[in-house]
Amino acid sequence: MPDGWVAGTLLIVEESFCRYARSVPEILEVESYRELANRVVGATITRGWADAYAAKKLNSSQAWARTVKGLMVTGTSRRGKLLVIETDSVALGMRFGMTGVLLIDGEAGIDGLFYGPHSFKQAWIRGGLEFNDGRRLILHDPRRLGRFEIDPDLESMGPDALTLTRSDFDGLVRITRGVGPAIKARLLDQSAVAGVGNLLGDEMLFQAGIDPRTPTGLLSTQQKDDLYKAFTSTVRTLKRRGGSHLGDHMDSRFPGAHCPLDGGAMLIETIGGRTTYWCSIHQV
Ligand SMILES: [Zn+2]
Repeated sequence: MPDGWVAGTLLIVEESFCRYARSVPEILEVESYRELANRVVGATITRGWADAYAAKKLNSSQAWARTVKGLMVTGTSRRGKLLVIETDSVALGMRFGMTGVLLIDGEAGIDGLFYGPHSFKQAWIRGGLEFNDGRRLILHDPRRLGRFEIDPDLESMGPDALTLTRSDFDGLVRITRGVGPAIKARLLDQSAVAGVGNLLGDEMLFQAGIDPRTPTGLLSTQQKDDLYKAFTSTVRTLKRRGGSHLGDHMDSRFPGAHCPLDGGAMLIETIGGRTTYWCSIHQV
């Protein structure tokens, strides 16, 4: 970390950071980071820094510092779990991995990181931007999976989950060859739909009453209708509640748990590479 990066204006203290350390950043959390990043629109970047982890998708860790210097921030956007800081030249992408949090000096953009750190450490700052008004935007990420990107590739990403239309959804569940992947795996496929993480995917299927192992191509018309309804309402409800980890099935994500709706045994399996929980009674 360059000299003076965290000194001075970074006001976070460990106790206040604890409140922010409770869940994996999914799309709703990244949307809250985007809202936080909006506060630097209009500011000019005077300095940037990235460690080797944050710069892993760039040519070098110096590329970030070289590219960002002198850029003016003109806006923010988001596609799935990718935050984009727009400037008067290139677009700057930020990904948050399993434990990444966006901070502007002492302000965090999220209310919880379930699997994340329960403390703030300077050593976990992976990089960031410094502005002409003295503020700093920082990526804090103990697990080192957060990444910076320059002009990120949006073409390879599916439509955004927070604004998914029925026609986007129909494309998501349309399978042209064979029966396709399990619906849970399909929901997690960022090229099919951008921004459904593990918790959000499980919650949607829980609400729709669908077995996550069901091949996408075998979903009935009724199941597709139910899943689209559950998709949009889950996103809305969890946004209102304040995070992806506040779904109805969350208290049943442990071996031996029972469904809060009908008492059915919760089943566990790895689907699409992620640990999936579902109810043996109402998810069929
Ligand atoms: Zn159930």
